[in-house]
Amino acid sequence: MNYELIVGLEIHAQLLTETKAFCRCPNRYGDPPNTLTCPTCLGMPGALPVLNRDVVRQATKLALALQATIHPRCKFDRKNYFYPDLPKGYQISQYDEPFSTLGTLDIETMDGTKRIRITRAHIEEDAGKSMHQNDGSTVVDMNRCGVPLIEIVTEPDFRTPQEAGAFVSTVRELLRYISVCDGNMEHGSLRCDVNTSVRPIGQTELNERTEIKNLNSIRAVERAIEWERQRQVEVYDSGGAIRRETLLWDEATEELRAMRRKEGSDDYRYFPEPDLVELSIDPEYVTAIREQLPEMPWERRRRYREELKLHEEAVSVLASDRALGDYFESLMTLAIEPKAAANWMQGEVRRALVDREITIEEFPLTPDKVAELIRAVEKDTISLSKAKDVFRTMLTDGRSATKIISDEGLSQSADTDQLRPILAGLLERYPDELNRYRAGKKNLFGFFMGEAMKITGGKANPKVLNSLLQEMLNV
Ligand SMILES: [Zn+2]
Repeated sequence: MNYELIVGLEIHAQLLTETKAFCRCPNRYGDPPNTLTCPTCLGMPGALPVLNRDVVRQATKLALALQATIHPRCKFDRKNYFYPDLPKGYQISQYDEPFSTLGTLDIETMDGTKRIRITRAHIEEDAGKSMHQNDGSTVVDMNRCGVPLIEIVTEPDFRTPQEAGAFVSTVRELLRYISVCDGNMEHGSLRCDVNTSVRPIGQTELNERTEIKNLNSIRAVERAIEWERQRQVEVYDSGGAIRRETLLWDEATEELRAMRRKEGSDDYRYFPEPDLVELSIDPEYVTAIREQLPEMPWERRRRYREELKLHEEAVSVLASDRALGDYFESLMTLAIEPKAAANWMQGEVRRALVDREITIEEFPLTPDKVAELIRAVEKDTISLSKAKDVFRTMLTDGRSATKIISDEGLSQSADTDQLRPILAGLLERYPDELNRYRAGKKNLFGFFMGEAMKITGGKANPKVLNSLLQEMLNV
């Protein structure tokens, strides 16, 4: 029998706020364990949560980017469960009245663009972190308790593991664009849960699904879904049944193993958080934030493709990293042609970033310095290959392009009066070739051009040299 794969995703994104969601502890990664805590995020009796306004701002940005409905009123609920890294015994989350619902996000697939429906995006807090030691013991770090999260839940719209992977990658790009989350999956600031089921092709109702928890790479998302698809198909084919359960992906062995039988959502005993008031969102507040949103990655991509006519590789490089794209935009504001700017960004600039292992934010040359160099090429003051040398010199010694070109005598000659005697001398040196050329062996032009370049040491403007040589050969 042929089966269809049905996948829905739940993505948890840690927000880039200064402090935690409901207390003033710093929201930072990498500090010594249990140093960023207070009575509130440790759930001490009597400690009261206060909502961080920046959490609401970030959630608003994301909901707008997902074109979701932001509800004028929402509330917080307690999600109760026991786990050693959850000292309060519950997480503050949102249950039946979430922050935002019904959004969409488009992904690129093999068959073109696909629109994924977002069920909801709500605010919640993170739990601590359990670390299993080699000696069999487990230690906990509470620094992550109370770190603000947005949970994005999709409809079961994915039909292949690659579509799910593309969605995670698109969400990560978006979160970085709007500076809501750093998208670092290795550090766990972006994590993904996957709900998987299969059904015979043609069947309309959904079969039982399983949940795979806390996948921390796009590759793991795709591999785990494929693994689980095959397992479910085998179970059905041998007459078995899938039961609802939670599975864990073992990164080392690339296998899924059962973690626990799934609680129904009722088992969390959700009830309204008594220590927080309802949150009401003013439409004017939403409008103000909408006006501050940057151009979205897909809008930028379309503009680069359709208006600037950049080729596909340039579009994908420049639009997928907002800061890199912003640098490119600065070059264009400095009157550099889009294509020239894109070539420099993709070539020399990106190579320098890779070689030095830095981001564009740490790149030592400002756009106006690079623009000065590109302009020298456009004005034929310097050849492109010499310009690349100048670029490398600029990176090491800080002189401007103009200064290096003049200090090192790199500017190319376009002075025909100066070039004419040089070329005349060249033609005299090769009388046989000259006669053969004039007798019709026109492909000898390349030979003369090559010799002329050699004599002038690459400093002559090739266009000028070419037309002057044509003129002198064809008298
Ligand atoms: Zn705290």
